[in-house]
Amino acid sequence: MTETRVDLNSRKRQERAKRMQDPEAYDWFRNTHAYRTAHESPEARESRLERCRTRSRDTIKRDRETVFAHYGNTCDCCGESELAFLTVDHVNGGGNTHRKTLEAPNMYTWLVRNDYPNGYRILCFNCNCVATRVEVCPHNG
Ligand SMILES: [Zn+2]
Ligand SMILES: [Zn+2]
Repeated sequence: MTETRVDLNSRKRQERAKRMQDPEAYDWFRNTHAYRTAHESPEARESRLERCRTRSRDTIKRDRETVFAHYGNTCDCCGESELAFLTVDHVNGGGNTHRKTLEAPNMYTWLVRNDYPNGYRILCFNCNCVATRVEVCPHNG
């Protein structure tokens, strides 16, 4: 006989109840990620998420700096060297379609993982924006 969804759920509930009476299994259950995230206090949750966010921010920052250092640390067009203004440009365009198929959390990590492929350069946001709109930056016009 095939089990219906309701049967399955009630069976699972029974199994869980049984586990609760077995202290060892209950301990195991209390240590699962699902249990802990469902029962943590709002403060604990916030600090966990914050730790998580900081970690990924740090990774992105590190990858970003490594990538810039590799591609020269200055805007290829105007020579801007303030890292905060710089971004990676896909020389032959297609950056947006590529970004969507990226097998990495972000462009910088992708470049690091792929050993800094050719076809990318550093541009500042100004030169990068102009390049996507009018193709040639006034710096070079
Ligand atoms: Zn520039
Ligand atoms: Zn420029």
